[in-house]
Amino acid sequence: MVSRSAGLPVVAFVGRPNVGKSTLFNRVVGDARAAIVEDRARTTRDRLYGDAEWNGRRFVVVDTGGLEIFPGDPIEEQVQLQARLAISEADVIVFLVDAAVGPTPADQDAAELLRKTTKPVLVAANKADNQQRELAAAEFYAFGWDETFAISASHGRGVADLLDAVVWALPPESEAEIARKQREDEAEAFAKEMARARPAPFVVGESDDDDDGTDDEDAEAGSAADIGARWDAAMAADDDEPPAIAFVGRPNVGKSSLLNALLGETRTIVSDTPGTTRDAIDTTIPWGRSEVVLIDTAGIKRRGKVASGPAAEKYSTMRALKAISRADVAVLVLDAADGLTAQDAHVAGYVIEEGRGLIIAVNKWDLVEDKTHKSFDDLVTELRRELAFIDYAPIVSISAKTGQRVQKVLELAVDAWGERRRRISTGELNRLVAAAVERTPPAVVHGKRPKIRYATQVGVAPPTFVFFTTDPASVHFSYRRYLENRLRDAYDFTGTPIRLVFREQVREKRPKKGRRTQRS
Ligand code: GDP
Ligand code: GDP
Repeated sequence: MVSRSAGLPVVAFVGRPNVGKSTLFNRVVGDARAAIVEDRARTTRDRLYGDAEWNGRRFVVVDTGGLEIFPGDPIEEQVQLQARLAISEADVIVFLVDAAVGPTPADQDAAELLRKTTKPVLVAANKADNQQRELAAAEFYAFGWDETFAISASHGRGVADLLDAVVWALPPESEAEIARKQREDEAEAFAKEMARARPAPFVVGESDDDDDGTDDEDAEAGSAADIGARWDAAMAADDDEPPAIAFVGRPNVGKSSLLNALLGETRTIVSDTPGTTRDAIDTTIPWGRSEVVLIDTAGIKRRGKVASGPAAEKYSTMRALKAISRADVAVLVLDAADGLTAQDAHVAGYVIEEGRGLIIAVNKWDLVEDKTHKSFDDLVTELRRELAFIDYAPIVSISAKTGQRVQKVLELAVDAWGERRRRISTGELNRLVAAAVERTPPAVVHGKRPKIRYATQVGVAPPTFVFFTTDPASVHFSYRRYLENRLRDAYDFTGTPIRLVFREQVREKRPKKGRRTQRS
């Protein structure tokens, strides 16, 4: 069992209100991998957690300002809480201050706390929009750190240097991160190769004879069908890691009870590996002819610190982020009495953003009074409304106490794991897309109808599809949604996000002996 030992590293932004945490957050997260994941913005609008990538390293950014507990609290207390959270859960802390205002008492208090940690702390003096402000930023050296970064989050000034330092301070890259990066690079290289090929619209494999017999040139350039077939073969090479399922949710919703119920039923524990990280406990149990890894984020209770209440909730959320980034599927456990909280919605958004599978388990169903079959339907309707962007996540009501449907949770999670790794051959995919486009073509934009020439799956976990089109920008969001729905109708993909990426088909202007004239 390799490579599950660490999730993505967490970088926390700490600072009092209005120093520019969310501006910096949006700049750092917004730029990340925009090409591959185009539609993430819609899933989580005011995000507190997001994925970032810089110099080839990926990390999770947390805006601790959004984790405000009691909005009425004095600013000093809010910032101190953020600092404590960051000290306990983050790998690198960016301490934001305001160069236009200079050091304030709230900054001083936070600095005092942050000085005590052994974690790397980077002081960033924001709003250093011009040289004068940059000089003013030097005041913050008084806080005692060797270096302060003068930045302007809104203009971008100095942000690159800050991110260089963040990446430098991150813990070493885990095997899982290296493997993931390799897969992404391969998919990217493949998409590029495809874009250079000259695919005829929806002509795949066996029917590659639309041309006029001059196929030798195709072979040389690598026809789309050739490349597609090669890629299908490459993707079929499997890795056989067992499914890893993370159990996340607010404190006291019953995560531990659910885990215990599952372990109690299966009896034989294959292995128990505490201490691989301090964030969660992994337990491997047999499942059918294979195994599954259960990642328990509730396993570690913090003594002496906040054990319950809103503060504990924030701690558990940050810990969940790491667990999610090394899981295949997350089970979001809710309490039937409370339903979905804002925090839950954020976590669900993050699960999807990370491309993980998602199951929603509504626990303590035994406590719901006067149940009729309508109770569950009403609950589902409510949750679907609140989580409209993840209508493909299965919802199940359970009781960890009585054992009702707990096994179902695992079944759904393992199914979602399978769906998340589903591969569709290039030929099959193009037949489906051709039919969908024929039934409903994309809308005309500026007098032109964008053509979808060719589609191919460039990755799994989550399934990622590239559509080569004449003009990606004019393929409307609703049309993307339409294509996603056709894919889901045909292939299910229950419990997993899928990604649709639209790329321009590059038409290379290579002189073709006699060919063009022959065609026209
Ligand atoms: P937060 O409360 O720490 O998340 O702060 P925000 O990101 O919401 O920023 C607070 C205000 O400062 C907003 O009006 C931003 O437009 C502004 N701001 C953020 N970064 C900069 C900057 O680099 N320069 C200037 N001049 N204003 C900034
Ligand atoms: P965690 O913090 O999410 O791990 O939650 P726990 O598993 O520690 O459960 C919190 C409390 O809820 C405990 O008192 C449990 O006995 C109780 N609990 C958990 N699941 C259920 C359930 O399905 N029904 C009822 N009635 N109580 C439950």
